[in-house]
Amino acid sequence: MTGKKRIFLGVLSVLIILLIAGVLLLLFILKNKSSEIYDLLMGSLILLFSIVAIFLIFCIIGFIYLVYSKSNNRTLNKILLTLIDASYPVLQILGGFLGIDREKFQQSFTNINNFLVNSRHEKYLPEELLILTPHCLQFNECKFKVTNDIDNCRRCGKCQVSDLIKLEEKYGVKVAVATGGTLARKVVKDIKPKAIIAIACERDLTSGILDVKKIPVYGIINTRPNGPCFNTKVNINEIEKAIINFTNGG
Ligand code: SF4
Repeated sequence: MTGKKRIFLGVLSVLIILLIAGVLLLLFILKNKSSEIYDLLMGSLILLFSIVAIFLIFCIIGFIYLVYSKSNNRTLNKILLTLIDASYPVLQILGGFLGIDREKFQQSFTNINNFLVNSRHEKYLPEELLILTPHCLQFNECKFKVTNDIDNCRRCGKCQVSDLIKLEEKYGVKVAVATGGTLARKVVKDIKPKAIIAIACERDLTSGILDVKKIPVYGIINTRPNGPCFNTKVNINEIEKAIINFTNGG
């Protein structure tokens, strides 16, 4: 298990410990102070904490099972993805209290999501696959509007939009450039892909993965050598590897 995955699973473990501690504390209070309304309130809280803790323990055990057995149990996979998505907001807050860097936490989440998406071993036709990239990948002085149609790119090579077009032509996948979350959602709605390879910064990628519930999203974090949202870059080899993975070799 890579270090990045461990960050998310570590925070998840801390949450389980806190929930178990909460249950024990409530049991202690219940034992020492008793009245009908008090019993009912405490009993409900104990039940709630216990159920959440059991689900999260199941999540960790299930994840470790998938990592080491290399199984492609789709039901387990979907349950884990749902549990991880549902627990993300609480875990992010807890991670903040524990002093974990937000970007590192989001990288860890993306890593776990990608592992689960990959371990499904589901294959798609190239045309069912969408590569979705943010507008900041385009050279900032380029005059051609690639957000409407990526084929408006003149392939001058000043930015990696031209590399994405090469991948589009080589594998027959769809490529779209979106200026923000709203447009990205519209593109997904219009194209109706069966799987998405999304390129973005940690924050946008995380919210995109959490947003798209029914389609598997493989996230690739961009690099920002010129600062955020400006002439960003992406590892093209990583995208190509993801395409090959999704399409059974293209
Ligand atoms: S590669 Fe395409 S999008 Fe990038 S600067 Fe050149 S023409 Fe513009």
